[in-house]
Amino acid sequence: MSETARPVLHDLRDRLAADPDTFARNVFARLFGSAPTLRDMFPAHLSHLREAFTDVIEHVLDVLPGDDGHDELIELLAQLGRDHRKYGVTEEHYNVMAQALVDEAAAALGPRWDRATAETVAQAIMLTTGVMRGAAQSVPGPATWRAQVVQKFDINRERVVVRLIALDPMPQFRAGQYLETRIPQWPHAWRNLSPSIPPNDAGELEFHVRSVPGGHVSTSIVKETAPGDIWTFAQAHGTLQVEAGRSVLMVAGGTGLAPLRAILLSMALHADSAPTHLFYGARFPGELYELGMLRELAAVNPWLKVTAVVDDSTDPWWVEGAPDPHQWGFEVLRGRVGDIVAQYGDWTDRQVLIAGPADMITSTKLKLRMAGVPTDQMQHDPVLD
Ligand SMILES: Cc1cc2nc3c(=O)[nH]c(=O)nc-3n(C[C@H](O)[C@H](O)[C@H](O)COP(=O)(O)OP(=O)(O)OC[C@H]3O[C@@H](n4cnc5c(N)ncnc54)[C@H](O)[C@@H]3O)c2cc1C
Repeated sequence: MSETARPVLHDLRDRLAADPDTFARNVFARLFGSAPTLRDMFPAHLSHLREAFTDVIEHVLDVLPGDDGHDELIELLAQLGRDHRKYGVTEEHYNVMAQALVDEAAAALGPRWDRATAETVAQAIMLTTGVMRGAAQSVPGPATWRAQVVQKFDINRERVVVRLIALDPMPQFRAGQYLETRIPQWPHAWRNLSPSIPPNDAGELEFHVRSVPGGHVSTSIVKETAPGDIWTFAQAHGTLQVEAGRSVLMVAGGTGLAPLRAILLSMALHADSAPTHLFYGARFPGELYELGMLRELAAVNPWLKVTAVVDDSTDPWWVEGAPDPHQWGFEVLRGRVGDIVAQYGDWTDRQVLIAGPADMITSTKLKLRMAGVPTDQMQHDPVLD
């Protein structure tokens, strides 16, 4: 962009940053005012979306007129464009959004808004929506695909296993990736879920879901999902994967086992998988519900070693009745999984895959780093959700 664009766009950035919520509220009000049907495409509560929206616009206004960071910005906008396909965003919607942004920028800049300023702002907004639009158009195939729930069973009061069969052709994804998922009980809410089995030609999918306290979608899955429900999926994301020929350390916390389980199952298809040590952590012994399956897997795959880790050695009353984890023949250690794994041995030559709740990932990474494992040897999914 021209040299003169910088002061204009940075002025707009600063005004937006001073009161991002009002800016976003006004843009959305203009948007829904011009195209009321668009409101149906958005979730009931817009606060998270408003925050994410102003973060992106602020970032665009910051970077676009500068000298650096253009490649990253373009990739971010392209990813946003691809992400928006699942909402059914059309050419016309981009035009309406661009106009709403220009109008709100005019209001925010007040007396500074003249012809030159208007051109600069319009050019920045057209560039932004143009990259998003172009990236969305370049993705082949439909934006979403569906699968039907065929089985659901409870693991305990807060966890379920859900199995589905794809109704549409399943796009390609890798074991260990996660899928953008929408359930019929929350038609405007997308959540990430990690399949616990590798993708396969039969279109089978399996998920392990824990209801988080106060969680809308996860609670509905645990309480309301039933065979016959149709779930919708969009993009697959995630980079968790095992590089062949190098020993592996896996650290799973709770339902974080799912993507690692999918990777282990795909490794089991090859005779020559590298030595792999899985640490499987849970709060209580009765929550180690996958040890039976892991026993069967380890029995026929000698490269796999499993260590179970529990925060507490006794079950609370609400998990009582679960099988004793010692019966599977694995060692069961007590402590925080990150502490146990870091003290257990030398992992400095291993590729490390970590999956679980955000705090477990952060603390495990820290402990392993302190034990000498380079950060670039550790992989995990984003922990923001
Ligand atoms: C890469 C990735 C893969 C995932 N895979 C799975 C999976 O296989 N199985 C699974 O069950 N979940 C998985 N999740 C979590 C899932 O995407 C949702 O974030 C989670 O189910 C909560 O959604 P919700 O609608 O129930 O909660 P929301 O209604 O979005 O949130 C309600 C409240 O719960 C809190 N909350 C949100 N998420 C969590 C959390 N994880 N722990 C504690 N509190 C939380 C929020 O801060 C908020 O206060 C994954 C997340 C990511 C990022």
